[in-house]
Amino acid sequence: MTKPVIHWFRQDLRLADNPALATACAEGEVIPVYILDDTRPGDRKMGGASRWWLHHSLMALDSALKAVGSHLILRRGDSVSTIMALIAETGAARIHVNRQYESWWREADSELSALTDLVLHDGNQLAPPQGILTGGGTRFKVFTPWWKALLHQMPPRKPVAVPETIKTPDVSSEALTDWALLPTRPNWATGFDGWTPGEAGAKAALKAFFPVINAYDGDRNLPSKVGTSRLSPHLHFGEIGPATVWHHAAKAAGEGAEPYLREIGWRDYATNLLDQFPDYPERNGKPAFDALRWREGPDADADFEAWTKGKTGYPIVDAGMRELWATGWMHNRVRMIAASFLIKHLLIDWRRGERWFWDTLCDADYASNGSNWQWVAGTGVDAPLFSRIMAPLSQSEKFGAGDYIRKWVPELANVADPWVHDPDEFGQRPRTYPAKRIGHREARERALAAKP
Ligand code: FAD
Repeated sequence: MTKPVIHWFRQDLRLADNPALATACAEGEVIPVYILDDTRPGDRKMGGASRWWLHHSLMALDSALKAVGSHLILRRGDSVSTIMALIAETGAARIHVNRQYESWWREADSELSALTDLVLHDGNQLAPPQGILTGGGTRFKVFTPWWKALLHQMPPRKPVAVPETIKTPDVSSEALTDWALLPTRPNWATGFDGWTPGEAGAKAALKAFFPVINAYDGDRNLPSKVGTSRLSPHLHFGEIGPATVWHHAAKAAGEGAEPYLREIGWRDYATNLLDQFPDYPERNGKPAFDALRWREGPDADADFEAWTKGKTGYPIVDAGMRELWATGWMHNRVRMIAASFLIKHLLIDWRRGERWFWDTLCDADYASNGSNWQWVAGTGVDAPLFSRIMAPLSQSEKFGAGDYIRKWVPELANVADPWVHDPDEFGQRPRTYPAKRIGHREARERALAAKP
């Protein structure tokens, strides 16, 4: 009898277009395992919103596996020792896994490679980051030339088919409910019900987006409209692969898909940076910024808390932070404004904001979150100047955020445009809505003076 093989699910919680799973299935019996490893990532273990998503995504994955004759095996613990124990228990011949670029997964992969037969597949990127090189054979740090080089390798490989059947030997599994991934006291996720985690939910989100894909370039910046695909948590957990998204979008919109595909490109680009700088989300890409004296102490803590709770007195920032808390997601334009406000207006270290997002975003992604925070801060290897300071009030007006603010900040529900963008300025601030933590001009001058 041939030995079974293991497919180790990580951020590839799907059956379609899953190269590691497809290869495993072609070899015979497969043990499909997900390991909840809270040890290796250290203080980067999954945040609360991600754990909520994971719970539902694993349930969906188990159902999908059952539909092809298999089921999901759940284990908890250090991934290397858990895999080695599973091999000892089942006699599995080898492990197939899709490559991840976070340092803790890379370390696990190299330890496992030394101990057993680990086969790494490229399943979660448009193209492996090491292969996108300048004419001189070096790596890119800046997006636009990187994107041009990537386009030479596009379209990505054709999506791999869903295995028709998967035969799985009898192996015990832990119970998902024992992992307590869902919040209980309090249950802060009651507003997350707009999401459908899992592969079917990802496909449905992509399908729902196609009727508006041709308007994406203009609408993606308008938080009051549903102009983006809302695929980020699905892509982060690998419920859909970027190659699938690329081919479907190109088919749906032809050349009109370019602005959208470029944004999908930013995801690969973030991985390109993480691959080169494994601790990028932890340190300034430009070391000169190590000298910047970020605000600390009780006043800064009070400002930080007001920011997390959406009580800064800047309606667009507050709407975004409340959307984030309520739904585990925030519109991209508003992410930029809210992050910039924390960094420049409140002069609080970008890493503090990055950590808040890490805990509260369903799409919290080590590469994308870190690189976007550095980009907004101006501290990154690719970033615009620190002195480019976003004006939240005029951004709000420019991108027509009135309805978005009225939706997420009930105190302003009855304040009309244009006052809703800056009710203080127009003497229209309801008493229930907080005053500005700091004026725009004062904040700007303080930030410029702090720049190293
Ligand atoms: P769409 O506009 O429909 O884009 C499609 C896909 O492209 C997204 O799902 C995402 O996978 C990718 N994408 C788009 N923009 C970016 C970008 N700037 N960087 C990387 N990928 C991108 N995205 C995350 O997936 N995880 C994060 O933790 C994350 N943190 C962020 C933090 C800050 C401060 C900022 C400014 C942006 C962050 N982003 C992050 C990027 C972006 O905001 C989200 O990917 C986007 O809002 C998701 O919504 P969507 O799926 O509707 O995007």
